[in-house]
Amino acid sequence: MTEDLSREIFGNLGETSKTIFYALAVVSSGVFAWGVWRRVKLWRRGRPDNEPIKWREAFQNIRTRALAQRALRGARPKASFAHRMLFWGFLVLFIGTILVSIEHYSAAALGREATNPLFHKGVYFVIYEITLDTFGLLMIGGALWFARRRMRADSSMEHRTADWLVLTSLIILGVTGYFIEGLRIIRESTPMPGISFVGYGFSKIFVAAGVGKSNVDSIHFGLWWFHSVVAFGFIAALPFCRLAHAIAAVFSLATTPKPLGQMEPISMEEVEETGEVGVGRLEQFTRLDLLRLDACVSCGRCEDLCPAHEAGKPLSPRDLVQDLRMHMESAAPAALHGETIGAETLWACTTCNACNDICPLGVRPADYITDLRRHLIGEGELRGAPATSLQKMQRAGNPWGLPAQDRLKWADGLDVPTVADNPDFDVLYWVGCSAAYDRRTMKVARAVAQLLQRAQVNFAVLGPEERCTGESARRMGDEFLFQELAATNIETFTKHNVKKIVTHCPHCLNSLRQDYPQFDGHYEVIHHTQFLGELVAANKLKAAAVMNESVTYHDPCYLARVNGITEAPRALLPEITEMPRHGCQTACCGAGGGRMWFDDPAEERTGSGRITEALDTGAKTVAVSCPFCLTMMTDGVAAKNDQVKVRDVSELMLEEN
Ligand code: SF4
Ligand code: SF4
Repeated sequence: MTEDLSREIFGNLGETSKTIFYALAVVSSGVFAWGVWRRVKLWRRGRPDNEPIKWREAFQNIRTRALAQRALRGARPKASFAHRMLFWGFLVLFIGTILVSIEHYSAAALGREATNPLFHKGVYFVIYEITLDTFGLLMIGGALWFARRRMRADSSMEHRTADWLVLTSLIILGVTGYFIEGLRIIRESTPMPGISFVGYGFSKIFVAAGVGKSNVDSIHFGLWWFHSVVAFGFIAALPFCRLAHAIAAVFSLATTPKPLGQMEPISMEEVEETGEVGVGRLEQFTRLDLLRLDACVSCGRCEDLCPAHEAGKPLSPRDLVQDLRMHMESAAPAALHGETIGAETLWACTTCNACNDICPLGVRPADYITDLRRHLIGEGELRGAPATSLQKMQRAGNPWGLPAQDRLKWADGLDVPTVADNPDFDVLYWVGCSAAYDRRTMKVARAVAQLLQRAQVNFAVLGPEERCTGESARRMGDEFLFQELAATNIETFTKHNVKKIVTHCPHCLNSLRQDYPQFDGHYEVIHHTQFLGELVAANKLKAAAVMNESVTYHDPCYLARVNGITEAPRALLPEITEMPRHGCQTACCGAGGGRMWFDDPAEERTGSGRITEALDTGAKTVAVSCPFCLTMMTDGVAAKNDQVKVRDVSELMLEEN
């Protein structure tokens, strides 16, 4: 019985209809190919990418990130679910259509009768029909969800006519597909209640509405043509509307993402060759960068998480990407810098990496920003306090511009060994500029050093030989200042045979972990909370577990989101009241990306929302594990006249040891 099951293909069409159908298929595919080629030409305006294509990795990425939709995660679970329904539904219907075409053309090539299919029959056919009917429902359901959301005028959605046309076409294609299936069941008199279950349902409705053998052919014929014309129009329009993102996204998601917090180095040779630093013209982005502008579907997930946008600064990562995309498309574009993207937009970014992390399509808004910043720095377009801090880094090796001899002042009276005093140290304690020169952060270095001494760790500090890592210089766009500072530090590390580094600064940690290896500086770098945790596990220290006050903990972006270190600090604290945004989904304090050196009043800083969130927990102590967060949180709390204490994890631990 099952063996006999099959269905007609082109069953109600004459030869003329078939010829017109093939002609339309050729035209629509041609328009599609032309549309894709136009986009490819735009992408090819960029610099060639240095990385060779790794095919095995690319297929693996397409399978996991694009087809399995694993890149969709975190925020907006309903939208992610609806997108999966729409995507998987569409994909399965598309594959189903290709299988039907293969059946039709192979059977014709072998000279088989239309009533004698090659493989589109029997058990295969049963599975095929059930699968396609099910996934068709998913596609329609997903499209209806998105249509409903657009109708609700959600403020984060853009409202373009083309988007409505796309959604309407998908719904029409899905629904008319079922109508045609129902009419075909009437034409062929095939009862398929459990197989083509949706089409079968419609066949019953049509019969009840008076459709029968006498009129079914003409209705089927008309509807079949309507469905086909919409399908061909849809295919032709694909590269010209929002669905173009589906094409660009496949390529974007095929590339393995760079680790968060990692930047591309630029070489002096490159600059000497081109005479330009960073991106001053669109053509200086790479081809992959330009392709990713097309992958952006303007979903707004990045904007939702952007701390600068939250604080009312003139930056939305979504708008930045869309503005760059329009600039790429424009026949007579306005200037890239100033007219398309303003300097104040670029300087507002804290490089917190929330946008790079959340984007489901592999777009990296923060990377465009740092590339564009490099040009501004190259042109000398940074003024005021942040420019002065860069000059001080260059002149004195630290953003405060203070003498290197003062780098050990924080350790007065502690008998902290330098590398000269203790050349056979096991661990180098990297103090960083903030703890060396900022009075408040000095207390953190003192706490760490005392804990290391109490645990009898064989450690040393570089003292006057230490220089700024150059982390913020790099993220502000001053690549060559960063490279100069990194070269000096790497030389010092080599001189003192440094293998293992402990630091309390997540920015230094990230730079030593991700920036320095690009210049042959390879070390084991761990955060002080990780190292102190090891000492607690070895019973050499006690965690700050017996505090009498309520505590909350603020995860620094470069420790949690960028380097995934969230448990080590918590393991050293008593039970904490978590803020709504915590762990790898933390919220920025506002100091990263060089914002630390901008002299905004505390109440106008990017992280002011985070201060409110911390205070709303009702905790009496805000624990931090980053000197920048310590400064931002302390100033923010003071600006709100609150009495809450802000303290580094090591300071809390010192009370117990
Ligand atoms: S960059 Fe990514 S997250 Fe941001 S709007 Fe575009 S697709 Fe959405
Ligand atoms: S890195 Fe952070 S601050 Fe910069 S655009 Fe992205 S989300 Fe906004």
